[in-house]
Amino acid sequence: MNVTRKSHLDTDSFPETYQVHASITGPVVLIGLGSIGKGVLPLLERHIEFNRAKLTVIDPDPRTEQWLSGTEYGVIIKAVTQENYVDLLTPLLKERGAFCINLSVDTSSRDIIALCQSLGALYIDTVVEPWLGFYFGDTSNAARTNYALRESLRADVPASKGGPTAVSCCGANPGMVSWFVKEALLQLAAEMNKNITPPQNRTEWAHLMRDLGVKGIHIAERDTQISATQRSRDSFVNTWSVEGFLSEGFQPSELGWGTHETWKPDDAHTHEQGCRASIWLNRPGAQTRVRTWCPTYGAQYGYLVTHNEAISIADYFTVGMSDAPEYRPTCHYAYHPCDDAVMSFHETFGSGKIQDNKVILEAEDIVDGIDELGVLLYGHEKNALWYGSRLSNEETRRLVPHQNATGLQVTSAVLTGIVWALENPNEGIVETEEMDHRRCLEIQRPYLGPVELHYTDWTPLDSFVPNFAYHQDPENPWGFRNVLVE
Ligand code: NAD
Repeated sequence: MNVTRKSHLDTDSFPETYQVHASITGPVVLIGLGSIGKGVLPLLERHIEFNRAKLTVIDPDPRTEQWLSGTEYGVIIKAVTQENYVDLLTPLLKERGAFCINLSVDTSSRDIIALCQSLGALYIDTVVEPWLGFYFGDTSNAARTNYALRESLRADVPASKGGPTAVSCCGANPGMVSWFVKEALLQLAAEMNKNITPPQNRTEWAHLMRDLGVKGIHIAERDTQISATQRSRDSFVNTWSVEGFLSEGFQPSELGWGTHETWKPDDAHTHEQGCRASIWLNRPGAQTRVRTWCPTYGAQYGYLVTHNEAISIADYFTVGMSDAPEYRPTCHYAYHPCDDAVMSFHETFGSGKIQDNKVILEAEDIVDGIDELGVLLYGHEKNALWYGSRLSNEETRRLVPHQNATGLQVTSAVLTGIVWALENPNEGIVETEEMDHRRCLEIQRPYLGPVELHYTDWTPLDSFVPNFAYHQDPENPWGFRNVLVE
């Protein structure tokens, strides 16, 4: 249905008419109006039918009120905490048809999902977020992994089935990239002239990946966005949540661990409980570099920062028993953030302290660059293919208000997850691998800029500096020994 429903957060330069995908009949609670929350609101207004007077934003930042002035939204200037979340959220979400959109940091996804399940409310978030203190507390490194966070939520999945849908980890990554993996597999099958029927369930998807000979996947991202203003020393600059990036950058590096691997680093740790799809390294992700590949600059270094999708993709595409798989892909993030963020982390680690001044580059600050975010499927007979979105900040500004290219890849995935939840309201807790990727990409596609597929004959062996290549495995070009920079 196309109706006139321009967002009142839009400016005059945007069209008047948008396709409405679905309706929320009850109240909406948006927790966290940061860079992602601000970008989601206009998309919601454009594409979802809901009663604006029944939407409440909760954020401790006093500037929230000013930002929302002129809208009909309710505002609560407060942090959602372990102590207050039940009393704060229950009155807002108890009405039939309610939807909770959690886009904040430091709020437990698991606890808020459990509350939504008990109230009958739909739910979405973009990471499995813990309560304040988890990331920098004095718990063990094993307890600070995304594996631990994800497993705690997975424990609630069986009881949730048939209950209200709670979409876990539905941003760009984790999130959209899992839909890209499935689409890339179909494209690879076509390129190899394999006549397949599209898989209908998890087992069939895992068999397809195995049968195509995919050894692993990098979530390969290059953010080239640059600001007109030079980063000042003692500031941390990024294109999305600085708090979020610092948190994950200081977590132990973590990756889905594939059956083709023949070597592990000395500081690698496995898990004795749960899906066992991943390992963690006893070093911070933002200090762990890998050799990877993206279309714009080709071979590059990326950071192996922990992410939920590294585990969920490896888990979803496992063939056989979880503790003795017949097949499992290696999967991890290989992230080259914007140059300012690279320098920011360089300074954080070098000085041993986190910068006080935290800056998220807004679309208007950015003078050039794209966020190139895709999946690099490697190790098969075509060597490697990258499939993803190459969205520029310039195009983003033409499409939407209040966000840069990185933000739009995330916010359009959140919109997509909301639509999917409304179309599938009784699925309990789900991850994005479990959703219909074709429907999801159909909703999200208009906001992704060029979505492209690129083949490359590069392997990590090509990126070793001559004379210093001590840690190589020439027999296994895509082995982790060659991918990890040591
Ligand atoms: P941000 O730092 O810009 O904003 C976070 C907002 O949450 C701020 O406005 C802050 O005041 C608010 N907040 C902090 N503590 C709160 C609390 N206890 N209760 C309510 N609000 C609180 O972050 P962002 O860039 O908007 O990112 C939001 C979340 O999305 C983060 O968890 C981030 O890791 C995640 N994220 C996911 C993806 C993805 O692709 N999956 C991408 C980007 C961000």
